Amino acid sequence: MERVYNFSAGPSMLPLEVLETAAAEMTNYKGSGMSVMEMSHRSKEFEDIITQAESLLRDLMHIPENYKVLFLQGGGSSQFSMIPLNLFKNSKKADFIVTGSWTKKAAAEAKRYGEVNVLASSEADVFSYIPKVSKESYSPDADYFYITTNNTIYGTRYINLPETGNVPLVGDMSSNILSQTYDVSKFGLIFAGAQKNIGPSGVTIVIVRDDLIGHAADLTPTMFNYKIHTENGSLYNTPPTYNIYIAKLTFEWVKKQGGVEGIEKMNEKKASLLYDYIDSSTLFKNPVAKEDRSLMNITFVTGSSEIDKKFLTEAKQQGMVNLGGHRSVGGMRASIYNAMPLEGVEKLVEFMKKFEMENK
Ligand SMILES: *Cc1c(COP(=O)(O)O)cnc(C)c1O
Repeated sequence: MERVYNFSAGPSMLPLEVLETAAAEMTNYKGSGMSVMEMSHRSKEFEDIITQAESLLRDLMHIPENYKVLFLQGGGSSQFSMIPLNLFKNSKKADFIVTGSWTKKAAAEAKRYGEVNVLASSEADVFSYIPKVSKESYSPDADYFYITTNNTIYGTRYINLPETGNVPLVGDMSSNILSQTYDVSKFGLIFAGAQKNIGPSGVTIVIVRDDLIGHAADLTPTMFNYKIHTENGSLYNTPPTYNIYIAKLTFEWVKKQGGVEGIEKMNEKKASLLYDYIDSSTLFKNPVAKEDRSLMNITFVTGSSEIDKKFLTEAKQQGMVNLGGHRSVGGMRASIYNAMPLEGVEKLVEFMKKFEMENK
């Protein structure tokens, strides 16, 4: 079978070039006589891989000097605990804007260690928009302010970040890291599980400002302490070595696409192609507030679960897979991360047009 266009929300498509390089280097990495999988994490070869991965990411995201980059395990979900354990240091209070089930989970974990102040939530409207919250309601003494920059399940994203002043902004960027430019200095901490825009699941990137490191609560497990991982250059224990290697290959690929700036233009083009068609369609509808639309996860519905089902079956026959919406919301969702080529979106739109004609 040929490769398909895989619209999965995660783990998701990787650039073919990355997979081919990994395949070519699989059994004998650069003359070492072994696979990266078989290599000591203390070897010179692996040290080069992790050093280059960090330096590529720093370049791509223009990460300032006073931020550390960590390669951790435990997925995005472990950060839901790690963040409060490390960042609650004074008031032990955090502001949250709840824009989806990932934010809800993060808030539930934070609540075990301190006070969670939910400024707003769009849950009553199935998280179809990003709530606008006036600055006056922010807690000036909060230890951090938490948002999810892109909501994978519902297809929304922040266009304008909250201006939190001296309160560190924490961003879950799991599903849109490297998809658009961000000013890292607006954040105290950014994290992202790798399996959407970077590589295989199993490595989590954390970008954290220096002054937020070193204040972990006493009961913090060693493995959950940012200080331990920064002091050891992400090599306190065996890191997910192969995943870091694939991440490095993806970072090189992003650089070749013109960096995040180049990728962002392409992502805008891909997303407009799909949104413009959906807006002109009488069969498909995008249920999200226009001004909050995600570039990465595009949801659409027909209003009939039978037609949705037919759509998914026929799309699959055409080599376009994993277009079903999240199990909690149904309908359809096209996840068009960095690695999804323009041709994949063009093919999807052509298919949707044809499907609309046949199913009016
Ligand atoms: C996928 C995802 C997560 C969860 O990541 P895990 O690595 O499975 O723990 C968290 N937040 C967002 C926004 C996600 O898209």
